[in-house]
Amino acid sequence: MRLLLLAMTVSLVGCQPKQTDFEMFDGQRAYAEVEALVRFTPRDAGTPGGRQAAEHILSRLESIGVQAEIDTFVDSTPEGDKTFRNVIGRIPGKTEKWIILGSHFDTMPGIENFQGANDSGSSTGVLIELARIIDATGTPPDIGIIFAFFDGEEGIAGYIPGDGLHGSRHMARQLVESGQRKDIEAMILLDMVGDKDLNFTIPYNSSKEMVKELLQAAHATGHRDRFSLTRSIITDDHVPFLKIGIPAIDLIDFRFGSEPGLNDHWHTEADHLENISAESLEITGKVVLQLVRQLLKNQYTD
Ligand SMILES: [Zn+2]
Repeated sequence: MRLLLLAMTVSLVGCQPKQTDFEMFDGQRAYAEVEALVRFTPRDAGTPGGRQAAEHILSRLESIGVQAEIDTFVDSTPEGDKTFRNVIGRIPGKTEKWIILGSHFDTMPGIENFQGANDSGSSTGVLIELARIIDATGTPPDIGIIFAFFDGEEGIAGYIPGDGLHGSRHMARQLVESGQRKDIEAMILLDMVGDKDLNFTIPYNSSKEMVKELLQAAHATGHRDRFSLTRSIITDDHVPFLKIGIPAIDLIDFRFGSEPGLNDHWHTEADHLENISAESLEITGKVVLQLVRQLLKNQYTD
């Protein structure tokens, strides 16, 4: 069944100009993925909703045809030990090298009527749609792609040591312990990518070489005006990867608000489906697809 599907998509791709591949990203499909995910809200780490969200993401990846698994682990938190679940999908490449695309999927606990459509539904929906498109090209990329859906990003005690970033810290630790760290070329994190008024605020703690590639990808897709570089440091799931020497970037729009420049929707009940848009998800997806294409260099051009 999978082979048949691949054969069909190969011929479709073959009919299209290769340089327009980023155009394949479908914002409506990504939005539908967000809608499906938020049905499990609250999906706070360690809750039944969190477990159901992880199982849902796993089943979406499997139905696309991507190898996937849930990595269950226990980590200490300011509230004691808690069980977390990372969902990991893999599209193996022609070499041992990998690029990691990441998003968290847990919600911030303790907010009444919280949907978490933007934080963290938007990036999760975009990542699932990216997996579908990259898998549908049918040929192994030169470098493999890991789709990492992190649990426990949200800090519950102001990100004191040992609080928040549980899934990404766990994965970075695994990469070091297994010796696979040397095989990871880059890490691209998506977070809060669905704001109707999409304006990325790339934090200062992103690798310079990745920022350069990102701006090139933004320019190539016609969306350069959506990206600005800031002097802010953001504690997010890319940080554990930076700490172990992997080039990493955080694609985040940290101005999710009722007016341009404000972030007053963040971690409030205003973070719901009506305040995100398929168009913003599509812009994000197209830029990331182009960025991945640049990093793979030869995948779509040979
Ligand atoms: Zn959050």
